[in-house]
Amino acid sequence: MKKALSDLNLEKLKELCVTLGEKPFRATQLYEGINSGKELTEMTNLPSTFVEKLSNEYTAQGVSILKTLVSSDGTRKYLFLLNDGNIIEGVLMKYKYGNTICVSTQVGCRMNCAFCASGLDGLVRNLTSGEILSEVLTVNKSLGGTLKKREITNIVLMGSGEPFDNYDNVAEFLRLVNNEKGLNISYRNISLSTCGLLTGVDRLIEDKLFVTLTFSLHAPTDEIRNDIMPINKAFNTKMVIEAAKKYFNATGRRIVFEYSLIQGVNDSEPCAKRLAELVKGFPAHINLIALNYVKERSLTGTSAEKVKKFQGYLEKLGVSCTIRRTMGEDISGACGQLRRKYIGK
Ligand code: SAH
Repeated sequence: MKKALSDLNLEKLKELCVTLGEKPFRATQLYEGINSGKELTEMTNLPSTFVEKLSNEYTAQGVSILKTLVSSDGTRKYLFLLNDGNIIEGVLMKYKYGNTICVSTQVGCRMNCAFCASGLDGLVRNLTSGEILSEVLTVNKSLGGTLKKREITNIVLMGSGEPFDNYDNVAEFLRLVNNEKGLNISYRNISLSTCGLLTGVDRLIEDKLFVTLTFSLHAPTDEIRNDIMPINKAFNTKMVIEAAKKYFNATGRRIVFEYSLIQGVNDSEPCAKRLAELVKGFPAHINLIALNYVKERSLTGTSAEKVKKFQGYLEKLGVSCTIRRTMGEDISGACGQLRRKYIGK
């Protein structure tokens, strides 16, 4: 399998150029080409002999866009082809303030949440930092963006995969996309969502990668959470809240909790009360969404009317919360609907 040059930062590209007998300034040209989302053949400022030499072992990008599906609400779902034939999905959402891309961090996922499509095949493999970066770079380019004039303003690590189950590559991706010579997207504009693999929280703090942290909570008690999220057996609800508080204390950043409402499972008034008790005492925000449909899973989303009611209970108890619009459902691009595909060699 060919490797992706997008895995490499400028220093490493310089080393590569020297190894291949090229002048170091070629590394800067390469870096600019890669971060503009280009493939090697599109980097016309490079000597063709150099491009040929590189092409034997490398592609510039870790993914290429295989297909784009456009939803009636304007959301776009991208099928990205990886160099080994796997296909992952990403989603672009257009808002008034800019464009947000939702990227995958793994092919498949081993967390096996009872409501999610991403874990149906288990974990196939981790994505490299360059593959995650190329999801952003290729979409930025496809929207007419460049390195200087970005079309993508926000990133959410909420596609397939558990980001903290691939910590090193995710951390390197954050540094690459934040690099001031690269796309230079600030950590504030990046949200990382975890199902609660809490070892990652300490590591983010240690590495000073102060992104917006989102926890997929989905239940206010261990009894309910154990049933729908296997990770709760290792890191229970109380531990999730403690980790959230710790991250708030270290960063001063408000914590977001995702709460997908499942009919008859976590959508009652007592659930709202327990949830309110759980998140009181520090700046937390709850995103409510009705569970999206996944055909292999047996759970059903709460009706729009009952979601509103649940929000009402929380608001009465002084909890900050919003109902998230579900986007891209007609193209299976909504939360929990992203899954792995594969093309044979
Ligand atoms: N593994 C990380 C990143 C995935 S983010 C995490 O769990 O946070 C995707 C979000 O969509 C998570 O909050 C996930 O719990 C939620 N989700 C999964 N399946 C869903 C579904 N069918 N309907 C609504 N949300 C779902």
